[in-house]
Amino acid sequence: MSAPIVRPERTRLEPWVLRRAGARDEAGLRRHQLRALRATVRRAKESSRFYARRLHDVDPDGLADLAGVAGLPFTTADDVRSSGMDMLGVRQGEVERIVTLPTSGTTGDPKRIFFTAADQELTIDFFEHGMSVLVEPGDRVLILLPGERPGSVGDLLRRGLARMQVEGVVHGPVRDVCRALAVLQAGRFDAVVGIPVQVLGLARRSVAEGPAVRLKSVLLSTDHAPRSLVAAIEDAWGCRVFDHYGTTEMGLGGGVECEAHMGYHLREADLLFEVVDIETGAPVPDGHCGEVVFTTLTREAMPLIRYRTGDYSRFVPRPCPCGSWLRVLDTVRTRVAGRVRLKNGEMLDLAAIDEALFALPDVADCHVRLSEDRGTLSVEVLAASFRDRGVAQRDGLDALSRGAVAALEAVPAIGSAVRVGHLDLRATAGTAAWPGSDGTAKRMLKTSEHTEEPG
Ligand SMILES: [Zn+2]
Repeated sequence: MSAPIVRPERTRLEPWVLRRAGARDEAGLRRHQLRALRATVRRAKESSRFYARRLHDVDPDGLADLAGVAGLPFTTADDVRSSGMDMLGVRQGEVERIVTLPTSGTTGDPKRIFFTAADQELTIDFFEHGMSVLVEPGDRVLILLPGERPGSVGDLLRRGLARMQVEGVVHGPVRDVCRALAVLQAGRFDAVVGIPVQVLGLARRSVAEGPAVRLKSVLLSTDHAPRSLVAAIEDAWGCRVFDHYGTTEMGLGGGVECEAHMGYHLREADLLFEVVDIETGAPVPDGHCGEVVFTTLTREAMPLIRYRTGDYSRFVPRPCPCGSWLRVLDTVRTRVAGRVRLKNGEMLDLAAIDEALFALPDVADCHVRLSEDRGTLSVEVLAASFRDRGVAQRDGLDALSRGAVAALEAVPAIGSAVRVGHLDLRATAGTAAWPGSDGTAKRMLKTSEHTEEPG
């Protein structure tokens, strides 16, 4: 007998988005977005030196419909690095929090993102309603995100949860798997929020060591979540896993999955999302992949107009099975810059490698590096178990590294490059977490041009 089909619950973000927009239906939301877009452009021109220059020739009232957003110039990460202070839309005294993001761009300057108290309030409000998709009043949530400072993501999440009578306990990113696991086992938690690879390591270590952990739900945030990693966490903890999409530039929160797990429903009252062609910058039809671009509709401190996220995704071209008319942005699995061409012409990205490696039962993390000449792909995998030293451990690790090579050869782009002699594969497996694996930086397919890690 087959299991009854359970219709996913309609996302609780929909009534919240409508309320935020002062709208009753989708048409009302789109009217709100157009009004807010015009107001944002007008305010940015008046209050920000950067946008006064950049939008000099733009008449906000000339935006006849939402499609008109495509006529506005983009804002890039390099603009934020080089002109961040000039983007301020408020007086410096009104800035409540500044988040400094490490540099990876061409100018060498870090990105600094500014928020007023009202901007932070919008994030807390989103966290409250976004989390209502996966927890209920009375639940306890372990937060494995940075949260020491007031206004940090963990702190705002804790405050959002408190508004729905859910207790959030901020632990911070996982620096020591055993300690974090002890906290999780002792704390009678119902849910965990954390960075995908860190949560996977915790889940697999908890299976290897026991006692069993049972959770209701997990929210993954900050980095891309491969399907195989999601399945491994669900399997380890018997829980539902939801993916959250949000960057600091978006105001920390952007969108969250519903029970249909097709992609993210978005904060559409506060953010206007687009997907554009990577080369031409032109809008692409729903269903086609491109770069995710957003415009802030309600941000005070630092309005961002058509900000290029560097994330690669698409709008799902059909309604969500949960019954909501809110748009669905497909799960972001890779960065635009994270795709490289192998010597045989095949495109490879980290997402394909992640899917293959995290499907191996004992992998807790992996580092992947492509040589500068693109002729050698080296992977290091971190094993979740085999902690007792000796022959059993050595054999286990040997088997794991052979398994990693076999899994990678099964990735079509890699397999075809290996078969024609254009790519060598090297894999090692170990049990010691490497330095820096406790950070919050996104994982990347590293090539030797920009590989050097801090010693
Ligand atoms: Zn849905």
